[in-house]
Amino acid sequence: MPTVYNWHLGRPMSYPYEEAAPAEQFAFVININRCIGCQTCTMACKSTWTFAKGQEHMWWTNVETKPYGGYPQHWDVEILGRLEQANPGGQRWSGAPNGNGRSPYGTFDGKGVFEVPHAVARGDQPNQVLGYLPAEEHWSAPNIYEDTPQQGPTRPMDFGQGEELAGDRKHKAWFFYLARLCNHCSYPACLAACPRTAIYKRPEDGIVLIDQKECRGYRKCVEACPYKKSLYRGTTRTSEKCIACYPRVEGKDPETGGAPMETRCMAACIGQVRMQGLVKVNKDTTWVEDRHNPLYYLVHVAKVALPLYPQFGTEPNGYYIPPRWVPLPYLRQMFGPGVEQAVERYRHPDRELLAVLQLFRRSNQIISRYELKEGPKVYETTRGGKKFEMFDDTVIAFNKHGKEIFRTQVEEPVYVRSHAHANTI
Ligand code: SF4
Ligand code: SF4
Ligand code: SF4
Repeated sequence: MPTVYNWHLGRPMSYPYEEAAPAEQFAFVININRCIGCQTCTMACKSTWTFAKGQEHMWWTNVETKPYGGYPQHWDVEILGRLEQANPGGQRWSGAPNGNGRSPYGTFDGKGVFEVPHAVARGDQPNQVLGYLPAEEHWSAPNIYEDTPQQGPTRPMDFGQGEELAGDRKHKAWFFYLARLCNHCSYPACLAACPRTAIYKRPEDGIVLIDQKECRGYRKCVEACPYKKSLYRGTTRTSEKCIACYPRVEGKDPETGGAPMETRCMAACIGQVRMQGLVKVNKDTTWVEDRHNPLYYLVHVAKVALPLYPQFGTEPNGYYIPPRWVPLPYLRQMFGPGVEQAVERYRHPDRELLAVLQLFRRSNQIISRYELKEGPKVYETTRGGKKFEMFDDTVIAFNKHGKEIFRTQVEEPVYVRSHAHANTI
């Protein structure tokens, strides 16, 4: 197998195809801290793309309650277990994070799904990807264990005081909402396993698609995707997956006048926790420095957004701001070794981070660049023994064509209605 560079793992790895980085890469950041589990994103996708016969159990994006929920059930526990079984005691990270963007989380010394010769074959080439096919019943309850905490209260509303947890993480019982969709991985396992080469990654934006005319429904992609985001449709006998709402990303929606637009699930987010964009990548899939692209800033400068299960080895392009109330060992296995720093930064945001967080969901257009205009200090306090200052800075967002989309402030403006209209909206 050819050798490619995986910057999430901080090292080269084997992959069935040569490196072929797109001009730009579809990517997104989801702030778990603010997700309210309303499923508006889920239904926005469902009502747009998967409402037809045969798609009843097909959820291209879903929101599951961790630690117990999952669609399909146990998807992460299953693949983590198989990797551990293949490399007992060896699934470890080492080394220090490197600031140059080539190994920001240190080095993963264990084995990813392409490094364990096993299971999913591609045509006459055996053993391309480690994977498994979920049982039928595991697809049947997409929101199983909704709102179920890790340690259920023994009395109503008694969530326990977790003395052993540091800082402001007070509760022993915890859960969080994990919103998921296809990660349009830089090294897609679905693509690697397809014996018909029916899956391709678009050179212009890195979106991973299944050619429906070529697919014969062998389900090798379903078996291989460690995130289980390729799904089988019985009525057409083909596999389907998230298409990243590509007509919107291409700027085909009349609303944006030709500028790239965020996907349906991103644009519909009630909690304003999702931001989707396009990032420039080098030939080896590392990100080109683009200091004022909000995704580049969140992932590589502030380092608050981390990839989901980077150790799988597919280099997913979905990033998450981890929830600050969850025990770190759980988060570390899910988001890698950068988690402690990410939680700390989010708990004590600096001036720029606070401003960039205001960019989420102010517009349907994809933000390519932001600028900051400094404002006065409006608040000061001490949090967790650290000084926190808030400035009413203005953050200005620009689209791909360099046109200003909107500007917004850190402090939300307050409007007081006149007495004459006190009860009107
Ligand atoms: S998340 Fe799964 S389906 Fe999506 S590109 Fe990656 S491997 Fe393929
Ligand atoms: S990007 Fe589009 S197709 Fe993909 S999950 Fe979101 S709404 Fe569905
Ligand atoms: S719409 Fe936003 S807030 Fe609601 S569940 Fe989806 S990601 Fe969470």
